[in-house]
Amino acid sequence: MALIVQKYGGTSVGSSERILHVARRVWETARQGNQVVVVVSAMGGVTDRLLGLAAEMSPVPSPRELDVLLATGEQTTIALLAMAINQLGGRAVSMTGPQAGIRTDDAHTRARILEIRPDAVRRHLDEGAVVTLAGFQGETPTGRISTLGRGGSDLTAISMAAAIGADLCQIFTDVDGVYTCDPRVVPDARRLNEISYDEMLEMASSGSKVMQARSVECAKKYHVPFEVRSSLHNGPGTLVTEEHQNMESVIIRGISLERDQAKITLNDVPDVPGSAFRIFRALGESGINVDMIVQNVSKSGLARISFTVYRNDIARADEALSPVLSELGGAWMESHGGIAKLSAVGIGMRSHSGVAAEMFEALAEAGISIQMISTSEIKIAVTIAEERCEEAARVVHAAFDLGRTDSPLPLPKSQPQV
Ligand code: ADP
Ligand code: ASP
Ligand code: MG
Repeated sequence: MALIVQKYGGTSVGSSERILHVARRVWETARQGNQVVVVVSAMGGVTDRLLGLAAEMSPVPSPRELDVLLATGEQTTIALLAMAINQLGGRAVSMTGPQAGIRTDDAHTRARILEIRPDAVRRHLDEGAVVTLAGFQGETPTGRISTLGRGGSDLTAISMAAAIGADLCQIFTDVDGVYTCDPRVVPDARRLNEISYDEMLEMASSGSKVMQARSVECAKKYHVPFEVRSSLHNGPGTLVTEEHQNMESVIIRGISLERDQAKITLNDVPDVPGSAFRIFRALGESGINVDMIVQNVSKSGLARISFTVYRNDIARADEALSPVLSELGGAWMESHGGIAKLSAVGIGMRSHSGVAAEMFEALAEAGISIQMISTSEIKIAVTIAEERCEEAARVVHAAFDLGRTDSPLPLPKSQPQV
């Protein structure tokens, strides 16, 4: 008997038929003698619809109320799935995040998990029930409902697997696993049999939304290996796990693409100690994620600082920076949207030189101009014009020979095969 955590994302529970399909799969796993916790997302599109409704009530809805609203999406799915499993002759009990002992901080809409007290989950499992657990939610220290950021059901699954010491954690989704690039962008992308935590983390945080980045961080911290697999069929998936020696022979594991970026440039910033600190402290305090920082200092002692943010954060960045810029006497801000970030990721890069040149050559041959560059030990990232980003992903993918050698797979089928 194994203790298994499974997670099904929004598309996989996107209709009654799909919930019934998931119920059959879960019940099959439980009938084989396993204890199963099944984490589910809201039905596909529901979270976005709820956000849209909130926006109709207020342009800046209260984060506390937003969390109360968003948490209902996942609650619908746990109840429906439990009903479906019970109807098949199984025994399932639904649990919300708070009922399952998921305690978070009080940062509404992007809460961090502080602790999980899984006693109630264990009790239900020991009594022979399948637990259908609402992803993406928890409870703050003062008993409020919180949510864990978009894609947060991945985090629920991985942290619950760590808390109950699961033997297996499986993330079922609408693709067969982690690919060398988003298969919707690069049709000949290849499914990876395995990938290290660090590579998955870099890919997830640079746009490969197949996993939520924070969930991968959690898996790495608590040593939870997990599989990413298709919810539609039983084919093999991708194992995300600790790095081992054989992994280094591959230089580039995958390519990520992140759209909707913007470049902010601060001009005429005094080149004195503390300028950068004041600027980035103000952005940090406003919760704005900043990436790819570049600074040029001119002979006149004035600096130009450029960085990327999400396009939707431009207005908030302007608001956060305007008092700081006036204090810095005459510094001024300009912003440009229409930018995408393209990243090549691989642990093999640590021991190989010339990887950046190869990537830049591929882009140059396609006539795609690079705006900004940043690197880490296992990643090279560039910003480029958004309108050419898919083409850029394809040429870089081809330059590193990442594609399938046989014919491309069709995109995931829209109907599950039972
Ligand atoms: P879920 O609703 O199951 O959480 P997501 O939509 O969050 O699913 O993630 C699955 C999607 O991630 C796929 O449909 C695919 O388009 C996208 N994706 C982006 N990058 C990759 C990648 N490298 N490998 C696989 N899928 C990717
Ligand atoms: N329903 C949430 C979202 O759409 C959480 C999740 O699906 O993981 O982001
Ligand atoms: Mg997801």
